[in-house]
Amino acid sequence: MAMTCNEVWREVSNYIDDSISPAMRKQVELHLSYCRHCAAIIDGVHNIITLVADGRVFCLPAGFSARLHARLKSEL
Ligand SMILES: [Zn+2]
Repeated sequence: MAMTCNEVWREVSNYIDDSISPAMRKQVELHLSYCRHCAAIIDGVHNIITLVADGRVFCLPAGFSARLHARLKSEL
């Protein structure tokens, strides 16, 4: 059964941290292959993480996570 956007977002931190099960990863990737909305947001999150890893950004803006979740809630 296909995942909904909300289900994808429950797994997204595991997905990005690579602590997701292979079966769940497959489901998330399947969803991302047809849901441009989630794919675009994942891209954005990856960009932020890349910036952090590069040392160009040392911390996320305060409240970033809360704002991201609020935005997801309002858009999904
Ligand atoms: Zn989606």
